[in-house]
Amino acid sequence: MSEPSQKRFVIVGGGTAGWLAAMLIQDALKRQNFKARVTVVESSKIPTVGVGEGTTAVFRQMLKHFGFDEFEFLRETDAAFKLGIRHKEWRRKGHNYYGPIDDPHLVVEPSIERPQSYLDIFAVAAGRPVTQAHLFEYLLEQKKSPYARKADGSFIPVGPYHHAFHFDQSLVGKYFAKKSKGVEILDAQVIGAQKNSQTGNIEALLTDDGQSIEGDFFVDCTGFRRSLIAKEMGAKWISYAHNWPINRAMPFWVDLKEGEEVGPYTLAWARNAGWMWGIPTQKRIGYGYVYSDQFLSPDAAQAEIEAALGHKIEPRNDIKLDVGRLENAWVGNCIAFGLSSSFLEPLESTSIHGTIVQLMVFTNFHLKNPTEISDESRTTYNAFVARQVDEFRNFINMHYVTERDDTPFWRHVAKNCIRPETKERLALWQTKMPDYEDFVPLPGRFAHVEQTLHYPVLDGLGLLNQKVARDYMEARPGLTEKARAAADSLTAEYRAAAPHALGHREFLQSL
Ligand SMILES: Cc1cc2nc3c(=O)[nH]c(=O)nc-3n(C[C@H](O)[C@H](O)[C@H](O)COP(=O)(O)OP(=O)(O)OC[C@H]3O[C@@H](n4cnc5c(N)ncnc54)[C@H](O)[C@@H]3O)c2cc1C
Repeated sequence: MSEPSQKRFVIVGGGTAGWLAAMLIQDALKRQNFKARVTVVESSKIPTVGVGEGTTAVFRQMLKHFGFDEFEFLRETDAAFKLGIRHKEWRRKGHNYYGPIDDPHLVVEPSIERPQSYLDIFAVAAGRPVTQAHLFEYLLEQKKSPYARKADGSFIPVGPYHHAFHFDQSLVGKYFAKKSKGVEILDAQVIGAQKNSQTGNIEALLTDDGQSIEGDFFVDCTGFRRSLIAKEMGAKWISYAHNWPINRAMPFWVDLKEGEEVGPYTLAWARNAGWMWGIPTQKRIGYGYVYSDQFLSPDAAQAEIEAALGHKIEPRNDIKLDVGRLENAWVGNCIAFGLSSSFLEPLESTSIHGTIVQLMVFTNFHLKNPTEISDESRTTYNAFVARQVDEFRNFINMHYVTERDDTPFWRHVAKNCIRPETKERLALWQTKMPDYEDFVPLPGRFAHVEQTLHYPVLDGLGLLNQKVARDYMEARPGLTEKARAAADSLTAEYRAAAPHALGHREFLQSL
């Protein structure tokens, strides 16, 4: 039983965002020794979005933070490993590149600058692919897991890097719900709110079964509905839809065939009017065509995919995407996470990653007794979320700077969809190499799209300048020799290590 004076945090929504919010908020309250009730209100009448199955390494760091067993997580959520993205035919037809998510700079001796990019810059100067010194490049190529087996049969990681996961989205919510001990769960649909006439803050939520759920702080995780933050608190949506390349998503599943190897990567395959994702879990591959209906009807999108895959598909949905973010993700005593706060497109898995980082920033720097939260805290937090999502937007936009001009869609993208920020950055990087100082770190230095993630994409798309890289290396005496020695040693080590890693499917079956 709660004490009468105990504060109550009410989270509406039981999707991935809602359960992440419940876990991280409850954990932070405990760490602060602040006794409060955490309640999740979810509606069994409203399904979760049903897509969103790829993460970044931050997800694994979070599992570790909570002390969850990774192998248990893999078993219970049908998950598989994600070591990077296979970008297929983005630069031009027939050209593919990987975006591995490990950063070899973490294991080499620092140069004068840090965080560093000197292995990447050396690779560009030497005309090598920047991914050559990445362990995950070899694991990706050989469809390996990031684990090998020891003589005693137990697993040992092949390298020191965090990997990511692909999973069944519906099972992840359930997994976190099971792990969130002490969180109260109510099954009800929120249909309105009682608000304080002076402050405008929410005092209680009204539900379809006649309940009134009182609380002190409210978290909107209601997905695209934005039931609290927009409908009750009036937060404005900033749409990026104008000149965004795509606006629809058609997800479908294909069962894995008996004995079929499981790629440890998200497939991102540039198509006639958008791109198709492929996300393998243990039993199936979750696919989806993200496309522009300005250039393709849903029927034509389906036909194109069936022709590409060589078999019929059964679309599970055809989702209209309202790409953008809230102007303010936190208004009064209500904050939004997940799809209710922002959504771009699945490329680079920014959504769940963004939710986790927002929750980390919120719980580390702003979560307090609701009566003590200041306007300044809200303003600082809102500016951080806006910048984070805008920078995701710019990073995603960079992927569309390609040589492709083979369909009306790609010609339209080249002419109308490359953002001014993208053009400015690319112009800058014709005069200097991308580096740490080109990116403003997030509060707490939480993971963000910085130079490490940009290099494989820029290199894969052929957007880096070899002369600028050579000038950089030549201006720093001794750096080329140091970088060559480190890169050659890592390349040799990782080439030798990869064959010892367990095949991805073999690993998953042994779970
Ligand atoms: C096509 C597509 C592909 C994607 N791919 C990726 C990806 O690869 N990687 C990635 O990181 N993200 C991806 N995402 C985003 C990802 O799906 C979401 O970030 C994640 O699933 C979190 O969703 P959510 O919890 O915010 O919303 P939802 O899953 O929609 O959950 C909303 C919850 O709110 C409840 N609810 C709604 N209204 C009410 C109400 N009035 N009262 C009570 N309960 C209510 C529902 O019952 C549900 O429990 C993708 C999204 C789309 C659309």
